[in-house]
Amino acid sequence: MPSPILRFAPSPNGYLHLGHAYSALFTDFWADRLGGTFLLRLEDTDITRCRPEFAEALTDDLHWLGLDWPQPVMVQSERFAIYATAADRLKALGLLYPCDCSRQEIATRAHGSDPDGAPLYDGKCRLHGPDGGAERQLQWRLDLARATELTGPLSFTIAAPTPLDRPQIRYARPELWGDAVIQRKGTPTSYHLSVVVDDHAQAITHVTRGRDMEPSTDIHVLLQMLLGLPQPIYTFHRLILGDDDRKLSKSKGSPTLRSLREEGWTAADVRAAVGF
Ligand code: GLU
Repeated sequence: MPSPILRFAPSPNGYLHLGHAYSALFTDFWADRLGGTFLLRLEDTDITRCRPEFAEALTDDLHWLGLDWPQPVMVQSERFAIYATAADRLKALGLLYPCDCSRQEIATRAHGSDPDGAPLYDGKCRLHGPDGGAERQLQWRLDLARATELTGPLSFTIAAPTPLDRPQIRYARPELWGDAVIQRKGTPTSYHLSVVVDDHAQAITHVTRGRDMEPSTDIHVLLQMLLGLPQPIYTFHRLILGDDDRKLSKSKGSPTLRSLREEGWTAADVRAAVGF
């Protein structure tokens, strides 16, 4: 059995809130319980929204909560060439195709939406190629039908919540995502591609993430299989809800750990509020 390695992988595009605190503490709890290591990874491939001051702030907030991790921290924006190489492998297998459709075009033609609520792509560029206007930037999409034909049905393992339980096997349903974007416009990667490349690079054995991200795992296990990468074990934790019973989010302006600290909350108060 390889030594357990877990990671907390926030995007430094805002300040952390109680939901992040829960996720980080949950990951640290599992790392301790398994006798493993807790790592931090900065998922900052969206360079238009991520900022160094948010990375500094989240590092400070996590230390304040009592968490620590080995150095150096993996920073995704330093690894674009590695993601491009992984995408090239998928291109060499004929599994990615270029697409220059705009968001609006995709939305107009979509029938249904993906698990994130985004309009499902109708495959126009797979069938007819991009329009080819010089000013239109390309993104690269996974040819899902071809990819799943290569891999066959896939499943993944969800860790047993207590030593008395058994792990669960879940079938992946990558088809819910349609032809997912693997390289975004102007970027050699996407969340899905970077995550699987880096979970492998960091030898992550257990991925802990919120229940809202469970569907992404369907695409991740497909990419792992296509790239010949080992599959970690997964755990999906509960979400911390706000007063409106909806999950906390940076974009909704949920109270940040910073603002709670300014109001006089201690790290112990935060731990108590989220049940750690
Ligand atoms: N970077 C992702 C986020 O901030 C989480 C990464 C993951 O667990 O795969 O939501």
